[in-house]
Amino acid sequence: MVVRDAAPPPDRRRRVVIQIETLPWAAHAKCLQADPETFFPEKGGSTREAKRICGECPVRNECLEHALENDERFGIWGGLSERERRKLKRMAS
Ligand code: SF4
Repeated sequence: MVVRDAAPPPDRRRRVVIQIETLPWAAHAKCLQADPETFFPEKGGSTREAKRICGECPVRNECLEHALENDERFGIWGGLSERERRKLKRMAS
């Protein structure tokens, strides 16, 4: 996720806003037009809409790669939840 200015905690919110300005691919992110809350569901909340948006995103691979490389802990990135990213990392190691 790129447009994450609604993500808890506040420090993270600031960091994500900075990413929009520093990552070239972020300008093409589909989530720029989406409600940021969608990408940070409450525990047990639905990730369906975020994943649908990611599925149409032209920079999905870049986003997921970024999340894995930077150990992003919160939210949906590249169409995967925190748990799915952890699983992917375990499988890759
Ligand atoms: S893959 Fe999803 S979270 Fe990542 S930039 Fe695209 S829409 Fe945003």
